[in-house]
Amino acid sequence: MSPRRPLRIAFGRIMQETNALSPVSTTLADFERTHLMEGQELLSVCSSPLRWEVKGYLRNLELSGFVRAARAFRPREVTPVPLLSAWTISGGPLEKSAFDTLVTRLCDRLADAGEVDGVFLSLHGAMGVRGVPDADTRVIEAVKRVTGGKPVAASFDLHGNLTRARVRATDVISAYHTNPHRDHKQTAARATNALLRSLAGSVRIETAWRSLPILLGGGNTIDFLSPMRGIFGRMRRMQKDPRVLDASIFPVHLWNDDPELGWSVVVHTDNDRDLAERLADELAEACWAVRHEQPPPFPSASEAVKDAREARVRRKLGTVVMADASDVVTAGSIGENTELLRVLTEEGSDLVSYVPVRDAEVVAEMDDHEVGDEVTVDVGGKLDPARTKPFRLHARLVSMHAEGPFGRVAVLRAGNTHVCVTTGAPMVMMPAFYKDLGLPIWKADVCVVKNFFPFRMFFLPYARKTIYVKTKGITDFDAAYDLPFAGPLHPRDNVTEWRSTDRRRRAPNKETAASPVATPPP
Ligand SMILES: [Zn+2]
Repeated sequence: MSPRRPLRIAFGRIMQETNALSPVSTTLADFERTHLMEGQELLSVCSSPLRWEVKGYLRNLELSGFVRAARAFRPREVTPVPLLSAWTISGGPLEKSAFDTLVTRLCDRLADAGEVDGVFLSLHGAMGVRGVPDADTRVIEAVKRVTGGKPVAASFDLHGNLTRARVRATDVISAYHTNPHRDHKQTAARATNALLRSLAGSVRIETAWRSLPILLGGGNTIDFLSPMRGIFGRMRRMQKDPRVLDASIFPVHLWNDDPELGWSVVVHTDNDRDLAERLADELAEACWAVRHEQPPPFPSASEAVKDAREARVRRKLGTVVMADASDVVTAGSIGENTELLRVLTEEGSDLVSYVPVRDAEVVAEMDDHEVGDEVTVDVGGKLDPARTKPFRLHARLVSMHAEGPFGRVAVLRAGNTHVCVTTGAPMVMMPAFYKDLGLPIWKADVCVVKNFFPFRMFFLPYARKTIYVKTKGITDFDAAYDLPFAGPLHPRDNVTEWRSTDRRRRAPNKETAASPVATPPP
């Protein structure tokens, strides 16, 4: 290869955060509705900071970060080669046919692209596919089969899980350094630079990683709050050392059916194995040290309604935001939990409340009605009846709304409770969800959201009090305890040390063990 020839780096994404407990599968149609883009169109949206990389969600994400870093790389000219980008909101595991279609399309484009020097992939790391263990790794392996093993750099959500197969298959692994996430672009740039420097021959990548038997710890795991602030800070300081190419920690997404689930860390250095191992150990010890800091217990719906009622002055000055912590759509839940709706209607009827609930059947039923009609409906609790009960609502149909990001929406009003019934997953985290339905935030005593953290930024101008509410569902922390794990995990079990689990998970004979993780690619 002539050193003057530009480096050709292909790039793509297959990404979703999966909640393994959801019975509602993610389909190809879900990707088609939210984000599925290929070829030149993909290159073009990733080349301009003004264009939406994922329309309606975010402008500049990992692939824009990759394209920018590739073009800014000085030692060698780089040609970014667009493949395919597929992303959809969190939900249940992908149908196998959807996953196979996306991987085939990505790989077909790669095969058609001719010879490339490397590949950049934007992955989640906690994507689940029905019948396919360790799905993210399958994507990387499929890509390597096409290129004959050319290096792959991958960016991950820090809620991803690292497996031995994944670390072995991936040449550079970089995770977000922020939670909530706001450094998608920068994460991709870190991974891209390490890959390009290695391809240009200026560094030689060494990798060390650790896997810890921790499911939940580090308090609320927010990067700028204690106790994680110290760990994130330490990791960023490590990167100032020119010998360190990249460092990441993964405080994992809980509701993942990988039997070897747990927090992990990974460090890449330039040609210094000992340093990589030492820093990986240091980060692992720092994570282990904060394992006992658990998120606070959340109140029940009744307690939350009482709290909201007592916040009289705060309600006058703004609104109380209730986060339905058991039905967080952005963590893969369905959005059809009716417990908060029931309690707000029955016990909080003096409070003006806005509540989302998913129920396609009820929205379809409203097609037979006129706005203003009195209706009686059993709403919610239909997709996962084992966990949520429908709630009978005597209400008036206030408005109907055409297909949007949450599907179609019917707004029903029962006394002071305004119920926004959606056909799709109600990913409610922004005030615009209610405003767009004709419900001004300043009129509400209580706004319900289906999100863990980003809503706090979006609701900042309105929220005078925030209450996380436990209503029982698949995003409860202890709901993950039902998943099958290969060994003891903190805090479900009494775990006294992390090194034996780490040794087992990283052992070279792992692939031959009778674990589902070890199943060879199809
Ligand atoms: Zn995440």
